[in-house]
Parts: sequence; structure tokens; C-alpha cells
Amino acid sequence: MNSATARETTLSNLRQQPEIPVLIVGGGINGVGLMRELALEGVDVLLVEKGDFCAGASAAPSRMIHGGLRYLENGEFRLVRESLTERNRLLQNAPHYIRPLPTTIPIFNWSHGIIAAARKFFGSYSEPYNRGAVLIKVGLTLYDLFTRQQRLMPTHQFHSYQQSLARHPRLNPEIVCTATYYDAWISYPERLGLELVLDAEALHPGARALNYMRLEGGSGDEVTLCDELSGESFTVKPKVVVNATGAWIDSVNGALHHDTTFIGGTKGSHLIIDHPDLLAAVGDEMLYFENADGRICIMFALLGKVLVGSTDIRVDDPEQAHCTEDEIAYILDSIQQVLPGINVQRSEIVFYFCGVRPLPAADAHTTGQISRDHSCRVIPPSASIQYPIYSLIGGKWTTFRAFAEQVADQLLAHFDQQRLRSSHELAIGGGKDYPSDAEAWIADLSESSGVNPARLRTLLQRYGTRAALIAQYIAAGQDSPLQHHPDYSQREIAFILREERVQRLDDLLLRRTTLAFQGELTPPLVRELAALVAAARGWTEEQTRAEMDRAQHILSTQYGVQNLERVIDHA
Ligand SMILES: Cc1cc2nc3c(=O)[nH]c(=O)nc-3n(C[C@H](O)[C@H](O)[C@H](O)COP(=O)(O)OP(=O)(O)OC[C@H]3O[C@@H](n4cnc5c(N)ncnc54)[C@H](O)[C@@H]3O)c2cc1C
Repeated sequence: MNSATARETTLSNLRQQPEIPVLIVGGGINGVGLMRELALEGVDVLLVEKGDFCAGASAAPSRMIHGGLRYLENGEFRLVRESLTERNRLLQNAPHYIRPLPTTIPIFNWSHGIIAAARKFFGSYSEPYNRGAVLIKVGLTLYDLFTRQQRLMPTHQFHSYQQSLARHPRLNPEIVCTATYYDAWISYPERLGLELVLDAEALHPGARALNYMRLEGGSGDEVTLCDELSGESFTVKPKVVVNATGAWIDSVNGALHHDTTFIGGTKGSHLIIDHPDLLAAVGDEMLYFENADGRICIMFALLGKVLVGSTDIRVDDPEQAHCTEDEIAYILDSIQQVLPGINVQRSEIVFYFCGVRPLPAADAHTTGQISRDHSCRVIPPSASIQYPIYSLIGGKWTTFRAFAEQVADQLLAHFDQQRLRSSHELAIGGGKDYPSDAEAWIADLSESSGVNPARLRTLLQRYGTRAALIAQYIAAGQDSPLQHHPDYSQREIAFILREERVQRLDDLLLRRTTLAFQGELTPPLVRELAALVAAARGWTEEQTRAEMDRAQHILSTQYGVQNLERVIDHA
């Protein structure tokens, strides 16, 4: 079912049939992960998201799919073990977007940090800093031990001073050595989230998701929803509500007459930097390093640019969270800790982003000490609200499947239903039937579709094996490259608009493609894409201008994209 029909059908069903067993509120990774898990078991479920899917914290991670070396200092062995298992599952179930990432830690002394780490392990306030080789060796050995039964990637290695500088010549010469271990990274988190939605809907016709549908309130056995696109209100009657709204959990519980303080969010920002020397210095490894204050920062090459982050600052209102100039300065300074000869200018930042981690409310002395584990808090039915509310607190991108599986089990027990299937080996979206020999797959597809191999290589890298669907769609009509970004084509974009729930122009610019993320948007390109969305959605000229205005505003205020002021003027 294409996107427009899918939305209309779901809305029309809601008007006629307001009863739904499970209402999931929030279309971040935790909400969509749970939706897929329930769909797998044939449970009817409606997911509503006030904006676009995976546009909150789930669009703002450091893009690490990792065990969380740092969490060992907090004694969170269970979490690290679970994260490593899930990392390995994602490498197998989503190989199109999750790939191994060799990670190098620059080390500046041999033995420092052991006492502070031990104190932290036992709950002390002090954050270890200047972690030395011995401490890092202990952590990496545990990391390797946890994955010894399912070894997908090499174990860690230490490199001497000379070896380290030979591998990374621009590294700070004050290091004593480096250690390299393997984790993984995710190239397109927003697309993987969308694929989970599409998979869930394909698995079970009773599983539906609506973006731009906000929970407004509720009472008795009802929940009120508002269609953010049309303004229409809907009343639904769920048996269970799952509050998967991340940093918004307490405000959504408040709208359902429950005063909770489950969340103590912290914001984190990242920069995307266009700097050839930095790109070359980082190479194909992630640098995982301490900033001057002992916080762990990361940088790695991503789609031809360098991702650097992040910050960790307490915030009360997720709607107000944005990347500030102070955070930019902090992150730029952090580069100096490891690559002191490389000077990055403010103007070389092509994009930045900020998200709020939905961490559990905690009175930890430092934000780094707050657990990154997940939990589900259940508010039982009461006189004012007759359904239970399950709030999904915390979690990481890496562990979404495990979290979803655990909550689904709780819900299945609630409905007295046995689990029938497991998602352990369930491939996601374009990770299905992912070829071990990409070139042979491309050659076959080229022969059957007539699309040239170079183009298919790009499509495979962008969409995994969904590239086959796109190639068929491209082959079925007259296609041409976009005038202002020939690397994309008209029918490729048309496919996305038809199949991938694009409601607003910014969905396409920010989440279905990486054009904004890579700093590749220009006023003519935005106008060209707006015209394609307008044609697909039947927008008037006025609506199209309003969408361009909105996109330009969001891009400049939230993502630091400043070159688009003239989008509207020249339309
Ligand atoms: C800076 C940063 C770095 C991170 N790095 C990593 C990393 O490298 N690796 C890793 O594994 N994890 C990482 N994480 C953690 C991970 O991204 C989050 O834990 C995860 O995305 C949380 O998902 P969520 O679905 O709970 O929340 P969100 O993604 O925030 O989703 C909640 C959704 O609820 C919606 N919503 C709110 N109110 C309503 C309403 N009234 N009606 C309908 N919908 C509503 C919001 O619009 C939002 O989309 C990072 C997080 C941050 C912020």
C-alpha cells in the first residue's frame, strides 16, 4: 500500500473503529521496535508519532552500535553484555546500515584512573579522567570476554607509541600508546527506524503507524489524538497505552492525568565537519577519546565528512533543546586533545544536531554516571484512566530490540498470549537477503532491471536490498538525474515519496535522504525537491512555499544550515 493510501485507510479505520488493543505513543526507535515486536505476534497495534518517525533522540545518536566500554566503570555488566549481543545481532540483521567500526583509543599514561574508576564503580562522585593503559586493558579484556562465544570481529590490540603514530600520524605526540578494538556504527538511523515501521505493517495488517499524529490527552477509557497535518481530532479506546515518548514521557503521562518524574534527560550535540585534513587524519577508524574534563568524545568519518561529539547536559524541556555556541566550542576544542595540529573553523561545520537522551531521573553527581539501561514502569488503571500505561524509559539505539522484546513479553502476558516467534534473527528492511557477494547481486539486478551497475551500487549502499524495488520502479518509467544533485534521480525520489511516509518537505531533506546531514542542500536543490513533493502530495503553490519556509527555518535554527535563506525569495 502506498503512503497516501496507507494513511487514509488508517484514518478511516480509526473513525469507524476506535477500539485498539495497544496504542504506542512515540515513533522513536523504542516505539517502532515494540511495534514490530507486537506485529510479529499478530497483536493489533496503532503507533502515533507527533512529528516524523525517528526525529527525536533516535535521529541524534553518536551513531555507535556498541557495547558501551564506558559503562563498565559504572558496573553495568548486564547492560554491556546485552548491548554486545544486540550489536552482533544488528550486524547480522541490518548489514546494509550497521557495519563494523575499528575504534582507536589514544592513551596518555600507563596507570592513571584506576583508583578513580574503582571509586566510581563503588558509587563515588568522582569521574575518572586521563584513563591509563592498565584501566583500558581491563575494560577491553572484559569486552572481548563478553563476546567470546559469538566472535564476529577481531579482539582488541595495543599499539606502541611508534606503531600508533605510524597508523595515525596526526595524533597528539603526547600519547604513550593506543588501543584498537571493534564496535559498530549505523549509517542511517532514521531510515532503519522507518524500515521497522514498514516491516511491522507488512508482518501484520492490524499493525499501523501514523506520523504527525499527536496524543493530546485522555480520560476514562479514551485517548484524544490530533492529526497535525489536518487538525482533525480522533478519539481512540485502547486497552493498553505504551508511552514511548522518550524525553516527553512525563509530559505525556501528565496529559493522561498522571504526575510522574520518570525522566531526567540530558542533551547531546554533534557536529558534521567538512575538513579534508581531519577526514584523512581520522582515516577509517573511530577515535574514542577523553576531553579535558574526562568526558568521552568520539569522531569518525561518515559519508565523506567527519562526525564529532558529543555533549551531555541536563535539560528540563526537550522542545527547547538545541546545539548552543558553547557546545560547538566544547566539541571543536575536543579535537585539539587528539589531533592538535588540525584547526577546524566554525565555517567548516556543515550541519549540527542535538537530541535529548531519555535517561531515568537520577540524582547522580555527573551525567556520565546516569545509567544508560532501559526499564519499563507500569501505571495501573485508575478511576480517571481505565487503561494501564507502560512507560519505556532510557535505553540505547543498540538495545532497542532487546528492550522491545522484554516489553512485548510483558504485554503478551497481560493479554494472556503465548509468544510464537522471535526477532533474534529477523532481518530488517533492506537487510533482508543481503548479498554476501554484492557485485554478483548488482550484475543480476542490472540484467533484470536494465539499470546500470554504478547506479545500483549507489542504491544498494543507500537502501540495502530495497534497492531492487527501487530499481524496478526506476525501470518502469522515464527517469533522469536531479538537475541540482545528479547523484539522486527523479524516480528514486518519487519512490521514496510514494512508499516512505513523507508528509513534509523536511522529512525528505533530513530523514529519508542524508542531503542535509552531508551539507549538500542548496537553494535550487531544495526548490527542485519541494516541487517533486508538491506534485506527489498535490500541494498548492502557497502550501509549497510554506513547506520551504518551514524547512528552511528548521534547518537554520536546529541544524545550523545557513545557506538556504534565499530558497523562498527565488522560488
Ligand atoms: C546525543 C545522543 C547520543 C546518543 N548516542 C547513542 C549511540 O551512539 N548509540 C546508542 O546505542 N544510543 C545512543 N543514544 C541513545 C538513543 O539514541 C536513545 O536512547 C533512543 O533513541 C531513545 O529512543 P526513544 O524512542 O525512547 O526516544 P525518541 O527517539 O526521542 O522518541 C520519542 C518520540 O516521541 C514523540 N512524541 C513526544 N510526545 C508525543 C505526543 N504527545 N504524541 C505523539 N508522539 C510524541 C517524539 O516526537 C519522539 O519522536 C544517544 C542519544 C543521544 C541524545
